[in-house]
Parts: sequence; C-alpha cells; structure tokens
Amino acid sequence: TLPSLPLFEAISRHDPNSIAVVHCLSGRTFTYGELLPDVARTRDRLHEAAGKPDIRGERIAFLVENSYDYVVTLLAILAARAIALPLSPPFPPAELQYILSHSEALLLLHSPRYASKAKEVIVTPNPPSNPEPHPHPKVLELPKHLGGEAGSPRETVTLSGDTDSEGAGMMLYTSGTTNRPKGVLLPETALTAQCHSLIDAWKYTPEDRLLHVLPLHHIHGTVNALLTPLFAGSSIEFTFPFNADSLWWRFATPFLAKPLMNGTLNHVPNGDLEPSSPRAEEKYKHMSTAPITFFTVVPTVYTRLLLTHQSLPADLAKASRIAISPKHMRVSISGSAALPTPVKRAWKDLSHGNVLLERYGMTEVGMALSCGLDYTDRVDGSVGWPLPGVEARLVDPETNQIIAEGQETDENGRERQGEIQLRGKNVFREYWRNPDATAKEFVSDNKTEGKWFKTGDVAVRRPVDSAGHGVSGDWAKGPMYFILGRQSADIIKSGGEKVSALEVEREILSLPQVAEAAVLAVPSGKWGQKVGAVIVLSELYKDNGWKPMEMRRALRDKLANYKIPQVLRVVQSIPRNAMGKVNKKTLVQAVFKDDFS
Ligand code: ATP
Ligand code: MG
Repeated sequence: TLPSLPLFEAISRHDPNSIAVVHCLSGRTFTYGELLPDVARTRDRLHEAAGKPDIRGERIAFLVENSYDYVVTLLAILAARAIALPLSPPFPPAELQYILSHSEALLLLHSPRYASKAKEVIVTPNPPSNPEPHPHPKVLELPKHLGGEAGSPRETVTLSGDTDSEGAGMMLYTSGTTNRPKGVLLPETALTAQCHSLIDAWKYTPEDRLLHVLPLHHIHGTVNALLTPLFAGSSIEFTFPFNADSLWWRFATPFLAKPLMNGTLNHVPNGDLEPSSPRAEEKYKHMSTAPITFFTVVPTVYTRLLLTHQSLPADLAKASRIAISPKHMRVSISGSAALPTPVKRAWKDLSHGNVLLERYGMTEVGMALSCGLDYTDRVDGSVGWPLPGVEARLVDPETNQIIAEGQETDENGRERQGEIQLRGKNVFREYWRNPDATAKEFVSDNKTEGKWFKTGDVAVRRPVDSAGHGVSGDWAKGPMYFILGRQSADIIKSGGEKVSALEVEREILSLPQVAEAAVLAVPSGKWGQKVGAVIVLSELYKDNGWKPMEMRRALRDKLANYKIPQVLRVVQSIPRNAMGKVNKKTLVQAVFKDDFS
C-alpha cells in the first residue's frame, strides 16, 4: 500500500494503459498502471537501506539520470514521507558534497550510471567551505531498471486512505545566481498546490505529450515539467541533455514523409542527423511518432533552436515548422529568465504563429505569475498575472507602501516600482538550516493572516487592454506584471535614478546587431553606479564594421539618457548556468573591473 497523497490518488485514477513516461531515443514507454507498483517496491527498498521503518522528513538525495527511474525514485521518497533531494550529476564533487552535508542527507541513492560519481563524492574530503562535515550518507545503488523487464507483471497497489503527508516533500537548492545555493524545503502540500495552479492555468490534459529537456534538480524541470503532467495524466518524454539537432529531429519525426527518413538528410552539419551514418540511423530509429503538444523550457533553448533551424535540410526544416505550429504544439512556455522579445517574435514566425507563453517563478514558490492560454493574454515583456491560488502584491522597497491596483503611477505619471511579494499554499516552508534567511524573507502585514514571501524581484504593473478574454480563465485580468529584475543585481542606482537592467537589455536586444546582452551595475564614485552593458554581436554583424558605440545612438530614441549604457564591452559569449541565468556579480568583476571608478 501507498499513502493517499493527492499525487498518488490522481495517478491511480488515470487510465492504467496510458503512457506516463517515454524515453525519447529508445522509444521505451512506461504506463500509469506500472508506475505505482514500481514506486511501492522502490519505497520498500529505501526503508530496507535506511535500516528503519520510519524515515519521515529525512533527506534522501539521489543521482539518477532523466528517465522513468528518476520518476520512480522521486515518488518512492514521497511515498516514504521523506524529503526528495535530486542532485545534478554534472555538478563538481565539491558542490555535491556541500549539498549532501548541508542537507544532512540520510541516504544517497544512485543509478548504476552514477556509481563512480557517488563514490567520488563520498570518498573525497569535504571542501573547506564545510568545516563541520555531516557524517556521510549511506550509499545505495538502485538496480538497473526500477520497472523490471518491459511488460513484466506488477503487483497491485492499494492506497491506504491515510492522507497525512507530514514529512513528505522536496528540497531543491536555488540556482545560486546571487549567492551560495540555499536549500529550499517544499512540503508536499506546497508541491501539490503548485501543480494544481498550473493545471488550472495551462490545462495539461491526458492527451498531452510533453517533451522534457530540462535538468531535474530545479523547480522548472521537476514541478512544471514532471509532477504537474503526472497529476494531469499527460505523457512525459525525456530527452536530455539538450541537443538542438535531436530536438528538431524529434519534433519533425511525426511529420516527415517516409522517403525522407532514408535519404536526403546528409547535409546536416555535425554529422549528427545523417541517416546514412549507421550511428544516426541507430540513434533515431525508435523515436516516437506522437506529436509534441507541450513544451516548457528556458529562453536560451529557444535561442539555440532558432539558430540551428537555419542549417536543417529543407524537408526536415519544413516538417519541424509544422510540428511547432499552434495546431500541434498546443502550449510552448518560456521562463526562469527573461525572454527577449526578438526571440519570441522569431519563434512566432518560424512556427506559423505560435506565441510563447512567458511566466515567472522561483524555487521558493514554484510558479507565481503567468501569461494566459489565450494569445491575446501574452503581452511582450510581461509575465502576466498571479496564477490561480497565488496572491501577489507590489511593495515599494523604500517606503514599504503597498502599490494598490489603480496606483501604478505616481502623481507625476511615473511608474511605481515595487518588490513582488507572494502568498499562498504554493510557498515553501523554510530555507534549510538557515532560520535567519527564512525570517528575513517573510513579512506579515498585521491585517491579514499568513506571511508574505519577499521575492527580491522588482516589477511594475501596467494596465493592458488586450487581456482578459475568458479563454485563459478569470485569473487573467487586471493590470499585468512586468519584471524589472532582481533588486540586488538588476536595479541599477545611478545618480539618483533607478534603472532596470532587464528593461535596458530588452531594448538592446531589439537591435538586429545584438545577439545577447547583459546589463550590469558598475560601481562609480560619481554616480554611485553606472550602467554597463556586455554584448555579443549577432553573426550577421560580426564582420561588417558596426561599431558597438553606435548602439548608444540607436538607443537614444528608445531610452531616457540616464538608462543608456555608459560603458560597453563586446564579448564572444556571456556565461550562463544550466538554467540560462547570468551571474552578474561575477560578470561585472570579470568584464568591468578596470572601469570601476
Ligand atoms: P539564488 O536565489 O541562489 O540567487 P536564483 O534566484 O537564480 O538563485 P531560482 O529560484 O532558480 O534561483 O530562480 C528564480 C529567479 O529567476 C527569480 O527570482 C527571477 O529573478 C528569475 N526569473 C524567473 N522567471 C523569470 C522571468 N520570466 N523573467 C525574468 N526573471 C525571471
Ligand atoms: Mg533566488
């Protein structure tokens, strides 16, 4: 038996023959009927390894590749009412050790693939950043296939009727963009609330096939692209790590005319897609032919896809455009970092009209703000409205005044910027072993019950006339949120003015000469901070004599003078982490050190 957690209840109601998980390359499928028996068996194994029947609330870390086995492991930990702590296999050992000892994990589970990684993490001494190392977790190697042989009979599982979920949850470490990653404790109730709110807003269905290309140690990959589709009975197809060629191939496969499969694809660079090569033929022959209907990734994935599409052979290019058109790809979402408007436009052109849906979220709360399902509810540069079940407000960081609806501008007509604060069942419980940080990030307002979480992100609200047409649901109405960036890194205070790095980036990126941009606060004795920009030129303009300083002129009729970057560097690439985020603290040091004045 398994406890009656809402996720297990939902799964037990799905059609047992419908597909829960697909492995993209091998084409192997796993049904909803198989899932809970495999979870129960794995949960028993955990108890055995832990050597005690009650591991409630214990942190169980795991290193498992993106696969059915990952799903079973995660759910088995929840079933034991313990805290699932997914680790990222590419992390350097020191990083993993930090997380293992900081979380005081009881067990480290790993798949056979990561046996040596697990050993490496356990035997190397703790990094100096961990002066008081926690005793090492017990290591348990999981068997090769948690589902056993394909089609092997499963025992039937019953749900106990016991709905107590205390102790069950997930611990995710933040991206560490601004500081050391923090361990965010998300109780099962918060995870469930996050999933329900996304199903409400984005309408995942059992007919959906979601292509999963994200790492599985972040909220985006685990909640939006895994737990929520499991709740809804959708199928999740894993293809990871990200590879633009195989993604295009996967999108296109259902729409390729048969002859193409054996002939015309040998002009593709990298040799990856060449069907004439036995390797590629082998690699792609089992790919499923179900169209992908649901896709949620970070902006840099769309950028990569747009770039690589240009070098696909004509027939594959055509088939993939059909695959990503609104008719087949019902929902395509971008988030985790700001979506550049040119990328959104280019995707729309390429896909015969698919408008990307942008949303805003973070590890601590899951998804908080989102544009709507109706295309008219997706305004460029906006992340939409508070999702169903999520309360949001803007608070002026200087005066602590709440910016009420209708008061989005001050008496001089200037937009009022505020920190986004959030409240709801979706919000995390605490930063693990960091009560000070936890206390600092929550405020109560003395009037209403429940504390507000301070996101540290600054936004404005703007009234829009296109919104609120009913398709999205009645949460998608009123003024829309526009993210200006992190208070700590993106709000540049220059000569008494506040400049949003994201706003300046958006304008720079609208110049055809620029492929990538990061706007930074550069310390300045005279101004406090000055606006600095790091840009990557687009391919077309790399060699044709466009002087980046012309950028200033080009921005003059788009931005107020004080927002135009005073210092500028052209670089070959801007370093980003796995989620496409730029660490501005290190970038400003690396690029502008000599400009500090
Ligand atoms: P750390 O908290 O360790 O510094 P992090 O904040 O980058 O890392 P995450 O929780 O993964 O870790 O990221 C959440 C942040 O990502 C948000 O606070 C916000 O700054 C940014 N973000 C998410 N979605 C968007 C979006 N659509 N547009 C702009 N920024 C976004
Ligand atoms: Mg953060």
